[in-house]
Amino acid sequence: MDKPFLKKLRRIAPYVPGEQPQRGDILKLNANENPYPPAPGVQQTLRSFDACSLALYPDANGKALKTALAGRFGIKPTQVFLGNGSDDVLALAFQSFFCSDQPILYPDITYSFYPVWCDLFRIPYETVPLDENFCVNIRDYDKPNGGVILPNPNAPTGRALLLDALEALLQHNADCVVIIDEAYVDFGAQSAVPLIEKYENLLVVQTMSKSRSLAGLRIGYALGSETLIATLEAVKNSYNSYTLDAVALAAGAASVADEAYFQQTCRKVVTTRERTADALRALGFLVLPSLTNFLFVTHPQRDAAGLFATLRDRGIFIRYFKLPRIDNYLRITVGTDAQMDRLLAALRDILS
Ligand code: PMP
Repeated sequence: MDKPFLKKLRRIAPYVPGEQPQRGDILKLNANENPYPPAPGVQQTLRSFDACSLALYPDANGKALKTALAGRFGIKPTQVFLGNGSDDVLALAFQSFFCSDQPILYPDITYSFYPVWCDLFRIPYETVPLDENFCVNIRDYDKPNGGVILPNPNAPTGRALLLDALEALLQHNADCVVIIDEAYVDFGAQSAVPLIEKYENLLVVQTMSKSRSLAGLRIGYALGSETLIATLEAVKNSYNSYTLDAVALAAGAASVADEAYFQQTCRKVVTTRERTADALRALGFLVLPSLTNFLFVTHPQRDAAGLFATLRDRGIFIRYFKLPRIDNYLRITVGTDAQMDRLLAALRDILS
């Protein structure tokens, strides 16, 4: 620390995403990606994309994609906000809506990016403990706060709240913005989107990374009242007008156009999830009920860190969080049936 300018640099502990191994033989079950390809229309759009059009800036307002999403959800395009992955949307939402001196609230076990954004944007926060079954108790959010953010289903637990509970949460938190992060909602949980007409302070954030197999394209979006969306637009346009590129805008719209493929892929993941959960239980794991594309598991007789490392040595990457309350749990992304069979065979072997 002898150079004075070093004292002026921002120091921050960043979010650490799941490893992206470069070796081809790795079974990658560590980032909740979808094992199936994007919709055929997306592939067609990318094949026929006119590279010459990239000489121009993309549509900063993303009109075609907003219109497609608005149509799917039965809302107005002015109620849709687009971002470079839902991480971008969430980061902007934190900056736009969590501006008071009061702490924002979120669960003690949740998406580990939330504390990073609080730190980055200097937002005070308070964590609210999940109950002993890792469930959110919405009554615990019934206290003064600067805002609430909940993933539903929660990550990495996979547990979800029903719509009634979300509505009660909104009724008790009318004076702040409530963000529901629905990154995993398409795998069986109830979406809060029907509540946005009634609650002007509700922002629902979704992503195309999981249920639409487009993690590599980076498309996230928020749905909410025109007031919230206009605020997000103003903040985005004070920072970077072109968060979505022309390729993402075109391919995203093609994905939304194929509802049948989307439904079919989600169903396949759910079927494999339930089969895998049963097989893991048969191996002695405790498996939390999941409404996501991952399973959160623990083995009463085995050390999770050890299992994680042994699987890794065998080329199977899952996720382990060395965090209070969950340091003996593993998060396993649901892949194809064949991929899960490889995981289960490895676990059978390791546990025998
Ligand atoms: N929210 C939650 C709860 C997540 O787990 C993730 C994935 N890491 C995201 C948001 C962000 O996903 P993306 O930026 O790919 O849309």
